Amino acid sequence: MSMKGLRRFVEAVEIPPPPPPADELCEFCRAVAGSAHGHVVDTEKRALLCSCRPCYLLFAHDSGRYRAVPDRYLAGTRLSAGEWEGLGIPVGSAFFLVGEHGTSAFYPSPAGATECLLNLDAWQALRERYPLLTTALPEVEAVLVRDGECFLVPVDVCYQLVGLVRTHWKGFDGGTEAHQRIDEFFAAIRARAHG
Ligand SMILES: [Zn+2]
Ligand SMILES: [Zn+2]
Repeated sequence: MSMKGLRRFVEAVEIPPPPPPADELCEFCRAVAGSAHGHVVDTEKRALLCSCRPCYLLFAHDSGRYRAVPDRYLAGTRLSAGEWEGLGIPVGSAFFLVGEHGTSAFYPSPAGATECLLNLDAWQALRERYPLLTTALPEVEAVLVRDGECFLVPVDVCYQLVGLVRTHWKGFDGGTEAHQRIDEFFAAIRARAHG
């Protein structure tokens, strides 16, 4: 290549714009998904995939391996302290996921989502009493409970809560900031569920 050719080559190179953060790219087609994107569950890996709108719509109402997470919030059920204790969960808030092998319970902890043993008989009795607990679509929706207050939420909301706890929880009791952020998080869910 002559010097002239090299120069033209060098001049033609443009510095590309910085790529958007990885979590804003669609994990199916690599298009920019934007900050308020939807998610698709890979039910084989139990993983959440960030998704642009067209890819999200491709998997809406799908019941195969990939399923779009619906944007549905419901509230209106409150468990008594005794009902909650009957489930055998050692903390005040947890979420329940329905999968192929039945219901699993998890609670957010500084180490991430921690699975806990669930008294299945007590859970079944509550499901018969409260229709909200039977409404979650497998894999893509969850029942989230805090101090007895039950919400049906998109499953990605539970992972947001897990991330919030992992990032902000300090020491044994979490600290003021963590509790304030968790309160705000639940206030937003409540507003969505009733609005
Ligand atoms: Zn896409
Ligand atoms: Zn995402």
